[in-house]
Amino acid sequence: MDFDLSEAQNLTRQSVRAFAEGEIAPMARELDEKEEFSAELTRRMAGLGLLGCFVPEQYGGSNMGYILYAIAVEELARVDASQAATIAAGNSLGIGPIYYFGDGKQKREWLPRLCSGECLAAFGLTEPDAGSDAGSTRTTATLDGDHWTINGHKIFITNSACSLTGVIIVQAVTGKREDGKPELSCLIVPSGTPGFTAKEMKNKMMWRASNTGELFFDDCVVPKENLLGTKGDGFHQMLATLDDGRLSIAAMGLGGSQVAFELSLEYANSRIQFGRPVASFQVNAFKLADMALEIELARNLLYKACWLREKERPITKEAAMAKLFCSEVMRRCVHHAVQLHGGYGLMKDYDVERLYRDQRILEIGEGTSEILRIVIARDIGVSGRAV
Ligand SMILES: Cc1cc2nc3c(=O)[nH]c(=O)nc-3n(C[C@H](O)[C@H](O)[C@H](O)COP(=O)(O)OP(=O)(O)OC[C@H]3O[C@@H](n4cnc5c(N)ncnc54)[C@H](O)[C@@H]3O)c2cc1C
Repeated sequence: MDFDLSEAQNLTRQSVRAFAEGEIAPMARELDEKEEFSAELTRRMAGLGLLGCFVPEQYGGSNMGYILYAIAVEELARVDASQAATIAAGNSLGIGPIYYFGDGKQKREWLPRLCSGECLAAFGLTEPDAGSDAGSTRTTATLDGDHWTINGHKIFITNSACSLTGVIIVQAVTGKREDGKPELSCLIVPSGTPGFTAKEMKNKMMWRASNTGELFFDDCVVPKENLLGTKGDGFHQMLATLDDGRLSIAAMGLGGSQVAFELSLEYANSRIQFGRPVASFQVNAFKLADMALEIELARNLLYKACWLREKERPITKEAAMAKLFCSEVMRRCVHHAVQLHGGYGLMKDYDVERLYRDQRILEIGEGTSEILRIVIARDIGVSGRAV
């Protein structure tokens, strides 16, 4: 076994870290406070090859592979979860379905624009009445001669309602399967299509500089050839997309845990109470030791899942484990971080305050922790309706 990253991987980590610390960090607190998405930062991240991480050069991607993709997201999240979310969703939820399931024409039409940052794609799965139970989608798409007519409502869709939004992948019911269950398919809906409107969702607790939208389809008509892949394949496409997406959410948990640890170590080593650094009290030293231990475990779990993905081996269980563990490690790390900072950790002048808020979504988006435990339980052979 070789646990070393390659020279190229280390170099990419360094360059993403330098960009994040130099270009994102000075803006992160203000964008969070103003709840403002930055098209400029998104374009510059695309310029570094951070959109299209697993897409070949022929379509404008950087083809860096899943380990490096995770490292890049980890480094962005170490500085600002919102920018990491834009990139994670842009790649795994937006570009992923078009690259993996689109036909040649769809790839040629969308991938170069998406990889260059000219526009963003979003994945419209969640609905007001279909969250964890994503298969109970109510949005419908009806084939009428040479076009589909879409009607329905999506909610909480990342990158779907900003100036860069170019296209939405929409999961919809397109008929009934032989077993009587709804047949699901995905369709490509470009921004500006008549009958489709997007409304930005405001007042989020976390990821405040990431764009989230609510989508309305009211007799929205797209050409027949906007079907993604095969009719009826939407459920499978959604599961595969979420497996990949979970790797990037795990990377966000890892990056957030890492910076919570770094900030805490620095602060606790320098904050003097009772004539000693607060880190020197054993109860606090043990918090820092636990953080370091769990971050090491989280990193190994995630990189192994990415390695499996690069080998094109199944990752459903491993991606669920990585996302579940990394997000819960970050919860414990940010809890310790605020505690070690005392009252200062509750103030917006300190980055641990933002980390504390940004962590919370990681246990909810792309499969809640409860759903991920169900996924793992099924995979390891637990039987019965309860899971
Ligand atoms: C900022 C943000 C960005 C997002 N981006 C996207 C996006 O880009 N695309 C997209 O499609 N969606 C997106 N989502 C939606 C997200 O994936 C859902 O919020 C998530 O899947 C949970 O669905 P829900 O909120 O409807 O909760 P519900 O499914 O209603 O769950 C409520 C609670 O019940 C629990 N629960 C549900 N079913 C079970 C069960 N069988 N067993 C045990 N417990 C259960 C859940 O774990 C949770 O604790 C985003 C959400 C947010 C907040």
